[in-house]
Amino acid sequence: MKLPPNSSVLFDSQTIRSRILEIAEKVRQYYASCDLGEIEMVWIAEGARHFADALFNAMNLSIKMRSIKVSSYGKSFESSGDVKIYDSINDIKARRVLLVDDILDTGLTAKTVIAKLKSNGVEEVKTCFLLNKAEKNKGCLKPDFEGFEIPDKYVFGFGLDIAGEYRDLPDIMAFDY
Ligand code: 5GP
Repeated sequence: MKLPPNSSVLFDSQTIRSRILEIAEKVRQYYASCDLGEIEMVWIAEGARHFADALFNAMNLSIKMRSIKVSSYGKSFESSGDVKIYDSINDIKARRVLLVDDILDTGLTAKTVIAKLKSNGVEEVKTCFLLNKAEKNKGCLKPDFEGFEIPDKYVFGFGLDIAGEYRDLPDIMAFDY
């Protein structure tokens, strides 16, 4: 597959896999004393698919898992500021939700989903992001679990796309635009 010009590897697949094992262990420890039946892992489609699968397998906790489709980017490189939740999440009745996404950028997506879950009666929402553009979002939402802090660059690969492409790349690439 031809890569976009001015793109380079930010994290290779081995580095990503090792980090996910570490995050999974932290999540396991956090939920160790909880009733597993009260927990649901909710991941944001499509971008978090690879991360959520790897995390879920590594956690080895028998909890429920589901995806919800949310979008704010469309085909652009910047958030539209308008977050759309396409799936009904009204039936998420778990007491505790682990919200998993590929990347924390402005924080708008996560904040919108958290507010919706809380208004549904979910008592606790913990967040887990593989990547965090911490400089850009200035800590507006502090992830409970995170993989890597990254600079404000558009990234793709390992589930993240550019207009629907490149999701299956094993590495995470940064695109200088
Ligand atoms: P936020 O609402 O935090 O600004 O954006 C979160 C969503 O925007 C992520 O779930 C992801 O889909 C998308 N996003 C943000 N930054 C990037 C990026 O650098 N690359 C890609 N592919 N998607 C991004």
